[in-house]
Amino acid sequence: MPAILVHELRLKNGANESRRMWVRTKEDTAREWCKSVIVVTHRSGKLGMVVILDTKNQQRATVEITDNLEQQTTIEDFFIKIYGVDSMEKVVDECSTDFIESKLREDKDTIEVWKREIFIGKYTLKINSESKDRLLLITEVATDEKHLLHCQSEGGTMVYEIPFPLKPARDYVVQAFYGSCLEPGKYSLSARAHCEFRTAMLQKHVQLLYNRASEFCRPARRCAIYHLYRNKPRHYFEKIRSRGGVMTKYMKNNGGDQASPLNRSIQGLFFSAYYKYSPAGCPYLPEDSPFGDQRLHVAMPFFVNQYNNLYFADFFCHYTNHHVTLVVTEAGSYSDHFCRQHLIPLDKTNNPFLYYNHWKKSCFTNVALNVEIFYTENINIGYLLCNKKAYFSFCDVIGNSKGKSFIGQRKNKNCQICNLTPEEIIEPVLK
Ligand SMILES: [Zn+2]
Repeated sequence: MPAILVHELRLKNGANESRRMWVRTKEDTAREWCKSVIVVTHRSGKLGMVVILDTKNQQRATVEITDNLEQQTTIEDFFIKIYGVDSMEKVVDECSTDFIESKLREDKDTIEVWKREIFIGKYTLKINSESKDRLLLITEVATDEKHLLHCQSEGGTMVYEIPFPLKPARDYVVQAFYGSCLEPGKYSLSARAHCEFRTAMLQKHVQLLYNRASEFCRPARRCAIYHLYRNKPRHYFEKIRSRGGVMTKYMKNNGGDQASPLNRSIQGLFFSAYYKYSPAGCPYLPEDSPFGDQRLHVAMPFFVNQYNNLYFADFFCHYTNHHVTLVVTEAGSYSDHFCRQHLIPLDKTNNPFLYYNHWKKSCFTNVALNVEIFYTENINIGYLLCNKKAYFSFCDVIGNSKGKSFIGQRKNKNCQICNLTPEEIIEPVLK
């Protein structure tokens, strides 16, 4: 296919030196190309400028480089990158001279994911910068598909809704360039920021993980348990006691599968149903914990009862053991509604992980994996202690408890057992 000339550009610096540039692309790409975004970076990486041209009406244009650097610069000191953008802000082509990455200041200005509507792939970013003009380059990592967006605000913090849906369970990188308008279509760049994130998976993907997890723990070795436990340092429980005995829930961190819809969506408190087993098959509690030396034990009926619902949320591993995350919600609550839409509801009396057996009048857990429970309400410990539904014990601590409990460990991406294949992510087929 013949190459079509899109632009004939003349680059000019303050010293009136100039340089010509011809931008060509394939014929079909040229038809889609609506806007040309020209990013100029100085050799030092510390000075940048953006010029936005209307491709069809400014085929011949002079780009004047505002070089307010102290030192003397020549036109050869500037590098150019050109993005061809279509009417949907999608990058259809890009080309550059020996482009060097911008080394603009990256400290005060930030960008992060603020809100997500998982069903429709609507993601909202929170952008914080003193600059009024922001240029966002959003890249889907696997396909290298890029979108280039320009947004403006009064400066300070703004929330910005990405104007197209993101695909589920994919990695994205957002690069933000901050600057101010010099004249229409021309901006100076002064700072940058970037963030990387994985979009949440859909319920279909969670169902596939559930299938993997139930496959993994078959044939099941089950054991009766009477309590779930939660380890924390002594001062954590001291503080709760001094504040009236209510243990308050907090936002779920990013631990486990990075695409879990649960992450940063609802609040709760983690408990464990993990027991060790003697060679004879008798369960006993682990002697130590990475999360703290004090252990709160809460009786099973507090969690598994007629007023609560149970959901499957996640299946993952770090190094050796496989874990499942289950969620216990109060029926009808906000969290319950969220879980019903995004997770897999479990039958409390019949599921592969944790269930109540009416005949034996007790709860059973699956020994093949670590079952963790995220309980989505505050807990009044004082009330439970008074009513003999909870008790405390102590154990040793291993490792750095702060880091582990706060940040949350990410899933081992290379495990074949608990990671969905790229095909399953693109097209989740339920058998
Ligand atoms: Zn695994």
